[in-house]
Amino acid sequence: MNSARFEALGEMGRREALKIEFSKEKISSYFGCDVFGRDQMRQYLPKAAFESVILAIEENRRIDRRVADQVAAGMKAWAMDRGATHYTHWFQPLNDSTAEKHDTFFEPVWGGGAVESFSGEMLVQQEPDASSFPTGGLRNTFEARGYSAWDPSSPTFIIDDTLCIPSVFISYTGAALDFKTPLLRSIAALDRAAVEVCTLFDKEVRKVVPTLGWEQEYFLVDEALYKARPDLAQTGRTLMGHTAAKDQQLEDHYWGEIPDRVVAFMKDIEERCFRLGIPLKTRHNETAPNQYECAPMFEEANIAVDHNTLLMTVMRRVAVRHRLQVLFHEKPFQGVNGSGKHINWSLATDRGQNLLAPGKTPKSNMQFLTFFVCALKAASEHGNMIMASVATEGNSHRLGGNEAPPAIFSVFTGRTLNEVLAEIEERISEKALSPDEKTGIKLDIGKIPEIMLDNTDRNRTSPFAFTGNRFELRALGSSANCAMPLIVLNTAMAEQLGLFAAEVERLTGTGIKKDEAILQVIRGFIIDSRRIRFEGNGYSAEWHAEAAGRGLRAMTSVTSAIKEYVDPRNITLFKELGVFSEAELESRYEIKCETYLKKVQIEARVLGDLATNHIIPTAIRYQNVLIDNVQGIKELFKADGAEMAAAEVAAIRQITDHVKAIREQTHAMVEARKKWNVVDDIPTRAEGYEREVAPFIPLIRNHIDHLEMIVDDRLWTLPKYRELFTI
Ligand code: ADP
Ligand code: MG
Repeated sequence: MNSARFEALGEMGRREALKIEFSKEKISSYFGCDVFGRDQMRQYLPKAAFESVILAIEENRRIDRRVADQVAAGMKAWAMDRGATHYTHWFQPLNDSTAEKHDTFFEPVWGGGAVESFSGEMLVQQEPDASSFPTGGLRNTFEARGYSAWDPSSPTFIIDDTLCIPSVFISYTGAALDFKTPLLRSIAALDRAAVEVCTLFDKEVRKVVPTLGWEQEYFLVDEALYKARPDLAQTGRTLMGHTAAKDQQLEDHYWGEIPDRVVAFMKDIEERCFRLGIPLKTRHNETAPNQYECAPMFEEANIAVDHNTLLMTVMRRVAVRHRLQVLFHEKPFQGVNGSGKHINWSLATDRGQNLLAPGKTPKSNMQFLTFFVCALKAASEHGNMIMASVATEGNSHRLGGNEAPPAIFSVFTGRTLNEVLAEIEERISEKALSPDEKTGIKLDIGKIPEIMLDNTDRNRTSPFAFTGNRFELRALGSSANCAMPLIVLNTAMAEQLGLFAAEVERLTGTGIKKDEAILQVIRGFIIDSRRIRFEGNGYSAEWHAEAAGRGLRAMTSVTSAIKEYVDPRNITLFKELGVFSEAELESRYEIKCETYLKKVQIEARVLGDLATNHIIPTAIRYQNVLIDNVQGIKELFKADGAEMAAAEVAAIRQITDHVKAIREQTHAMVEARKKWNVVDDIPTRAEGYEREVAPFIPLIRNHIDHLEMIVDDRLWTLPKYRELFTI
């Protein structure tokens, strides 16, 4: 009965989707048409202004006010030609979404009439008076002046009628209140350190940028069903629901046929993304029912991060048009796979070289190995910080399960490279090499690309894997902003590159030839990062034991993982490289604690409400049906009745047991919340919530899921998993 009702609702959405019309144009003919990119700038800006913007992008030069006025005028003209009436600074506050406050270009003129105006000042800075964004104590609410400032390195774009200006968001005192500011700082730190190391091999390199190719996983659910599940709507995940008889066990969803309704949704997203210059390449079904993924061609990291956040906005909006809801939560459904966001990360030079791709010559492979071992050592030194950067309430339901990377950080390099590293470790010694040894090693290094070619090693159980020409971090949650793990990777890498260059300089200062010095430092880095390398099964019990022996921690508790933000080692790292001040790290720690505890609090409240107001009344209603039934049987069959009704009586008893347990545990959960709510210190309160409130959620759920299996389907008020999985 329920299924039929829900099915009818889904049918409306399916019909609606088929009515949508798509562009028949070639993608290349409209790609980026809603972006103020280089072509548009060339057309709308005076030559000098155009060149200033390019210099600002390529060399981090400042744009002076006069030029800013010219850029603003050109931008306004372009935007108005495309029908825009408003503009906004578009930024990424510390809450995994984006912020925008639209102002119109239109301005009434005193004495009558009106004009459209947009000055350099309005382009460069906007004061959002944003006292309600998370600040972790960085900005007092009475001193609410945070302001946003234009980031010329990410192009301006139009959504609907609004010109969106990618911006940083900072406090009046200059402290970063967003993701973009520290990301830009980490990109600059990496650039400085990487260029210095590059010049050991190629004097022409002027600029190095990190590249990012993300892969975004998500679920789709019919809007009507979503709205009938208050837990999904309010927390992003189902807090109850018995597993469907069939979900992903037949492995028939991954890369399967994409349903028509979903194809329509994907096409709609793609068309909008292409207009916005987001280079989406791939779309496919993922493992769980109703789970999908999309991935673009990689881009410079800052732009790629903006594009990922923009994509998520586009997806949420488009979903509504299709009567769907898109779920970015890391674990919307228990028992099937959750969603992650893979971070493919590498470094590219302004000479078009990927620094993590093996080259064709021994020299370019020395360069590759240099960057490769610096990445290994960065991972070894700051793996816990990387895990801290991905630790959230949502991700805690995914990490460490048997479908997502384990909670212990390690690096997978693949057999070929593992052998190369072992060989360097063995053959190079601290004493000078003989000429023969030198050529031998050079020849071996030269062979790397050939042996890499057929290296199809893919270790899906590794949180950080080298995949031939980049590293892939698989631990980030699907709902998160990509910036934070990138900030850690860039900064940790910058630190190691700095150490690498310094060590080479020290050795050459003692008279050792440059090539040999480089090889020796490579060897040292290999040895120093040994403990982080693991080629086996990351899910296995043996690995847990071995990792403990290597001093690697399983980051299973969110509140203890995020303590890394205020660990003295990390504070030093970020401070020295100019990425975060200590106060900025403390504020992020506080925000992470607070977000964690608020999410648990909301889940606990929603669960308590649903258990008391939906589940228990439904269970009792059905129990009364059974009681009537038992009484009827006893009346009818007298002495025989008791035995005949025994099974119903048992069911009645089971319902009572579950209802009683739900009531008791819900009460205890409320008491636990009360206990911790009065604790002022936010990290302590968050720890209390993690230890004493969160564990009630699966306990209560378990009783509810049992009741779902007992109670009459017609009486059950909430859509079940099998219904939520239809599309
Ligand atoms: P898989 O699912 O096998 O990991 P996908 O094709 O889904 O692979 O995604 C691979 C991602 O890696 C894409 O976003 C791609 O652009 C990205 N990528 C490829 N080369 C680089 C690179 N040099 N730097 C960053 N990302 C890269
Ligand atoms: Mg993939």
